[in-house]
Formats: sequence, C-alpha cells, structure tokens
Amino acid sequence: MRFDLSQQRERMVERQLARRGIRDPAVMRAMRSVPRDRFVPKELIEFAYDDTPLPIDADQTISQPYIVALMADALELEPHDKALEIGTGSGYAAAILGAITAHVYTIERHETLCIRARTVLEELGFDNVHVRCGDGTKGWPEEAPFDAIAVTAGGPVVPKSLREQLAVGGRLVIPVGDAGVQRLKRVWRTGEDEFEEEDFGPVRFVPLIGAEGWSAEHGTPAGLRVREPSRARGTLKHRAAARPTTAAEIVARAAEPLERHDTADLKPLLARIADARVVLLGEASHGTAEFYDMRARITLALLDSDPNFRIVAVEADWPDARQVDRFVRGLEAAPHPERAFTRFPTWMWANKQVLAFINRLRDVNAGRAAEQAVGFHGLDLYSLRTSIRSVLAYLEGVDREAAALARARYACLVPWEHEPAAYGAAAARGRFDDCADEVARMLADLLRQRLDYERKDEEGFFDAERNAALVKNAERYYRAMYYGRHESWNLRDEHMFETLRALLHRHGSRARAVVWAHNSHLGNAAATTMSARGETNVGELCRTAFGDSCYAVGFGTDHGTVAAANDWDAPLEIMQVRPAHEASYERVCHDTRLPGFLMPLRRPKTDNVRAALLAERLERAIGVIYRPDSELVSHYFHASLPRQFDEWIWFDETTAIDPLPVSEHSAETPQTFPFGV
Ligand code: SAM
Repeated sequence: MRFDLSQQRERMVERQLARRGIRDPAVMRAMRSVPRDRFVPKELIEFAYDDTPLPIDADQTISQPYIVALMADALELEPHDKALEIGTGSGYAAAILGAITAHVYTIERHETLCIRARTVLEELGFDNVHVRCGDGTKGWPEEAPFDAIAVTAGGPVVPKSLREQLAVGGRLVIPVGDAGVQRLKRVWRTGEDEFEEEDFGPVRFVPLIGAEGWSAEHGTPAGLRVREPSRARGTLKHRAAARPTTAAEIVARAAEPLERHDTADLKPLLARIADARVVLLGEASHGTAEFYDMRARITLALLDSDPNFRIVAVEADWPDARQVDRFVRGLEAAPHPERAFTRFPTWMWANKQVLAFINRLRDVNAGRAAEQAVGFHGLDLYSLRTSIRSVLAYLEGVDREAAALARARYACLVPWEHEPAAYGAAAARGRFDDCADEVARMLADLLRQRLDYERKDEEGFFDAERNAALVKNAERYYRAMYYGRHESWNLRDEHMFETLRALLHRHGSRARAVVWAHNSHLGNAAATTMSARGETNVGELCRTAFGDSCYAVGFGTDHGTVAAANDWDAPLEIMQVRPAHEASYERVCHDTRLPGFLMPLRRPKTDNVRAALLAERLERAIGVIYRPDSELVSHYFHASLPRQFDEWIWFDETTAIDPLPVSEHSAETPQTFPFGV
C-alpha cells in the first residue's frame, strides 16, 4: 500500500528548499508535484522526504532533494527546452526535469536502474522523458544540441562530448573533482567556441564512470581489484609478483596487528601522535567496551608521556563532567543540584569502563602537583537546566544582587527547562518571544564582572562562564532544531569546539588535550556526506584551527554486541551488531581476517593504502540508538576514510560496555562518587 505523503513533500519543499534559497517557481512546482517516494526502494519509503540521499540498487544513490533542486535551479530551464541528464539512477531527477521542460533525455550505465527508472517514469505518465542504457559521458549525439545538461555523478573533468553537445546559450551543471569531494560547476556555452564557468561550492556524488569519466575500478567496492598507484604499475611480469590486489590485502599489509586492546604496543602510535596539541579519539558506537578501554589506554599513555596533557574533554555535558573532574582531582564533591549522568543515555558515561578510567585518572593526579592536574571536562550542551542552576548557585556565592538579576533573566527559559525542544518549536514558530537576548545578556553580565569574580573564585568563575555560554548556545540549539538537523548539528559541534578552545586557552599555550567523542564528531566532516549537507563538526573545526597539530583517530568494528536503545528515552538493551555492509570500510577491514589492528592513514606504511581507500565507501555509525533493521539508512553514511582520519583502529569483534547498575550507580561509596553524588 502507498501512503499519501503529500504533506511530507510540502514540508520538504518548505524546509529543505525554500529556506535554503531555491527560488525558481517552476523548480518549486516540480518538487511539490513529483512523488519522490515512488523512486526510492519500498523499504525506505518512510525516509523518502528526508534531507538526505538514499541508497538504490547497484550501490548507487538517489540524490538529496536539495541537490536535485539546486541543479535544476542552476540549469535555468525554460518550458520549451531540451534537456539531457547523465546518471538517471532512480529516475527522480529526470522526472523533475520532465515536469519543468518539454523534452528530457537521460542515460544510465546500470541496466537494472535504467529499466526500473523507465518503468516508474512511464507509470507516472512522463512520456516526454526518454531513458537510454549506456555510457552517458559520450552524450546523446543524435538528439544534440541540448539547452541544458545535468550530470548527476562526479567526473574528473567536464566531458568534451558533453560540452560539444551543448547549444550556444546552453547550460551544463556537473560535479567535478576527485572521488572524495567535488565542486558543482556550471558551464555556459556563450559562443561557438566560448564557455564560461561558475562554481557552486562543494558537493559529493558517486563517480561518473565511462569513456570520458573515471575508469570502472574507481570506487571499487571491497574485495574487488583496486587501481594501483601509477608508480606501482609495471610490466605484466612485474605485476605477476605477489602484489596485494584487493583493498583488504593492502590494508592487511599496512596494518599493525593487535590481538587485544590491553596488550597492544602503543609506542608506534605515540610516535605518530608526536607533538599533536589536540588528539581526537573517536568511537563507532556509544556502547562498545573495546572503544572505551582502548581510548583509556591511549589517553593514559599520553598523560604519562607529557605532563602538558592536562585536558581530557568528552562528549558529555559540562556540569556532569565537572563532578567527575572534582573526583579525579581529589576534591570534595561540589554541592550540586543534580546527580551526574542520570539523564538518558546514562550508560554512555555511567559504565564500568569509564569508572575504571577515572579511577586511573585520579591515580595520575595523585602523582602530579595540583596546578599540573589533568581535568575531565564535558563539551556537550544538553544540560540547560543544570547549567542555569549552576550559574545561579555561583552568583549566590559571589554577588547576590547579580544572582537576583540572573534569576530574572533566566526566568524566560525556566518554564521550559524540562522540555527545551518544545521551547525551540514554540519560539521558532513565533508563538512566543524567544529568550535569546536574555541569555546573551546574562553571559555578557558575567564577563563584564570577570576581574572582580575571578578574584573571589577563579575556578568557580570559569565554570560559571562555561555554563552561561552553554545556556546561550543551547537556547539557539533548541530553536535551530525546529529548522532541521543540520543547523542544530552545527551549533552543537561549534559549541563543543568553543568549549575545547576555552579549555586550551585557560591552560596556556603549552597545554595539550585529548578529546573523546563519536567518530561522527571527530572525523573530518569535509571528508563525509555531512559536508554536502552543509554540516561541519569538531574534527573539521580542529583540523582548520590546528592543522597537523590535530591527530584524529577513528575506531571501527564488524560484529559483536553493543549497548544501545532503539529509540530516544527507551530502555537500554544489549544488542547484536550486524556484520558490516559489503560496500563499507568495515567490510574491507573484516576481510583482512585480522582480529584487530592500528592503521596509520596520514603516513601509511605502504604507499598504496591511501589510493586503495580514498574512494568513498560506506561507514557505520551507531549512536545511543541502534536500529539494526533499518541499519543501511539509519547508520551508514559515505566517507573517504584517509581524508577523515589520521589513524584507524579496528576490532573485528566487540562487546557491549557494562552499564553501572542503578544500585551501584546511586550508592555513595567513594568509588562511585562522581556518579553517585
Ligand atoms: N539522478 C539520480 C536520481 O535522481 O536518482 C541520481 C543519480 S546517482 C547520484 C548517479 C548515477 O549516475 C548512478 O546511478 C550511476 O550509475 C550513474 N552513472 C555514473 N556514471 C555514468 C555514466 N557514465 N553514464 C550514465 N550513468 C552513469
């Protein structure tokens, strides 16, 4: 049964297109009328109007709605135009062009896709759209010239044949660049031999494969032959030597095998990290013991190697982490309005692996002078309520008059503290005056009094300032949530980065930091599908700010168990992780048959590693939520691993973390003080 998804379509047009500046009324009409749900695989219909590309057969994708609209907009179509599309895929973009203009010719190299697209287009009555199976880089000479040409796969250059088949005055839109990321170009044919080119910014497409595109090996999925770097190409005799030919074989040769996380030799890794100021340690799930334990080992080794490592900053809320911070520094528990890590997802930090780690941090600090102590800090911003209370409690101690004013300023948000998302929606819809001014003024008030307050309680001031900054950013975050995931994602990662910078600044120019967060926050977003959606992350911001002084390590696994929930606020379950998708990096790693390994990517051991892994593959991200049944859509994204990380750590089989049981969690024994207070 098909559902009426017209409301979702309308919302897509409004939120994803109109707000991003798509203006051409004909494009908007087409996007409103063509049912994208008819072009996606049946099992993905519920995602048809999401702001994302989706997988279709033959390992290809149907483009993100915004990209389809952007390309159609850039083609500046007239109703009588004749258009050519290269890369029919599902047929959706061809249908959009067909709804705008008189004649559309579209070519797809995969026969299965081509046949299916033809059927759907016929069923929907698009008799002005003609589908051909074959290599589109040569164009469709019999029907040339075209007023508009759209290429929906990324090529190394603009194919010459396509330029030649453009009418004078015609427009060609094409992603051009390497396999990882391309630039969307518009080429105008302004005269018989004259062309003008414009750049529409970075995009990410599957490769254009054909006579005037990439060769067929480009983007080869795991297990097939990969292109050898040119230097390694040789005579047949030369090639006959035992040269690794699959990505998995290449990785297996370049990897530093490790049997167990607790016995791995970390010296080579520490040498590679060398003098990085910021070390980013990712994770492919929030509930895998090996990821926590290995990060703990690396972190402790770094602390041991240099006393300037004084910051451990994690994807947890600031006030909660502060309680752990006091514990690891051997201080009394701060009087606090709320116990730490009691909100969903509690297990992310209240687990035995973290407990063991923070006990070790406490030991480290016992051997360091107080001013050299390592701090444990939270970068995240989900603690609106606790942060407001922390600011008020601080001001009560240093300036009661200011505390009264703060209470008045925060009064705007207090009714919403338990449901900040509802605040965001109400404010964004204009049903309610937002609190942006109040929270910004509160932070400004605090900063104005810095000198005075710092004199009374320097550390308390820094904490209050971070909490006030958190409230200000969280207020924006909840309003942005209403507009879509991308805006709010960016605000959250920018907040995390701002907090990290504030910590580095506070500890001086020699201070070094280790950051723990999910791979999706720490791997460079510019090397993943995130960038085409306009998303950035902590990894990209660090790369931009610190260059090679930032060393990013990603983690991955094939199968095993994981601690996660199947929905937000749902109970924790220990779930089975499905074996990795055949087109993923994880499958390449699994095919090495190694139980685990470290693999340097910035300066790999053999020079064909980067070439073998550079073309994008799928990568899995399990968060606090895991939905194995819709795994491909919910948990995989495209990335170019060597551009995303400097190092990759692999555990083929992994086990779930041990969440702290509620009784232990709340017991006020010294061992559990950071969680139990
Ligand atoms: N426009 C498509 C849609 O709306 O579903 C999405 C296209 S998908 C991003 C790119 C498509 O280009 C893939 O289906 C791929 O097989 C196809 N492709 C790549 N190289 C091609 C070539 N030389 N000729 C024709 N199709 C090609």
